[in-house]
Amino acid sequence: MAVDLIRIRNLKTYFFQGKGILSKLFGQGLKIVHAVDDVSLTIKKGRTFGLVGESGCGKSTLGNTIFRLVEPLEGEILFNGRDVVKMNPEELRAFRQNAQLIFQDQFGCLNPRMTVGQIIAEPLLMRQGAQARPEDIAREVAELLSSVNLDPDAAVKFPNEFSGGQARRIGVARAIALEPEFIMADEPTSGLDISTAATILNLMQDLQDKMDITYLWVSHNLNQVKYMSDDMAVMYLGKVVEMGQTKEVFEQMAHPYTKALISAVPQVDTEQQKKTIFLKGEIPSPINPPSGCYFRTRCPQAFKRCEEEEPSLLDLGGEHYCACHLLSN
Ligand code: SF4
Repeated sequence: MAVDLIRIRNLKTYFFQGKGILSKLFGQGLKIVHAVDDVSLTIKKGRTFGLVGESGCGKSTLGNTIFRLVEPLEGEILFNGRDVVKMNPEELRAFRQNAQLIFQDQFGCLNPRMTVGQIIAEPLLMRQGAQARPEDIAREVAELLSSVNLDPDAAVKFPNEFSGGQARRIGVARAIALEPEFIMADEPTSGLDISTAATILNLMQDLQDKMDITYLWVSHNLNQVKYMSDDMAVMYLGKVVEMGQTKEVFEQMAHPYTKALISAVPQVDTEQQKKTIFLKGEIPSPINPPSGCYFRTRCPQAFKRCEEEEPSLLDLGGEHYCACHLLSN
């Protein structure tokens, strides 16, 4: 049985807009963006946890909060039992060696003035400090490049000499340099063609098998999450609306939003295409979310209670949870 690596409890990340002097003079007062709104979930060691939802649902902010790239308003983020929220700068530095990020902009996260060797060597040098021996670092860089199926000669080239898929593999090599326990991959194949994306997915699965890495896989691509993740959560307007083992969620989906998202996955089968659920309107503003269930303004099954009362996550058994009044009416 897999043990818990990350336990998030009642996490809230809000952004406060309109606090500056100009906003006070000419703005319309303080606005609060509910980016992550009371989220609790558990990520198990050695597994992949998929986080899905439309743009703006808070999935990337949740990931960034785990790394404290943004500070939470309240809540707990336990990593191996230690609360990341309460870590001092030294503890945070150690945590960030053990937890790495792969960003969606593959070129934006590689310094164009550094060679690939320098980019990958940077975290190794930071860890080893004055004791680092150049020949050992060069050997480790060559091994890391090989492990992501790149020629070790790539070390002397600059990022702009590589394709998007190769740049993504360089990012992966840097991310695994310190042998982290946990990697958050934020839209890790965005901008890549299908065959290149498939090689990245296979590479990351191989590395997970070899190094026992735990992934948080943030994506709007449900097919990819179905393929890659063991467990998953669906987010809407900063809240988790459904969560469970990926197979169970896909086969026994219970939330109207999950049903709409899954029905909208492109299908070759025209009969399946006819079952697509089209949601009305746009996702509401996280500054002023609807009363009751946040999804009610777009939900095809909304009823009176949905406007008055916020649904809480109900345990459907088998670690499957869903927040919808239809399940308790
Ligand atoms: Fe739809 Fe109501 Fe369920 Fe929300 S609680 S998803 S509005 S049926």
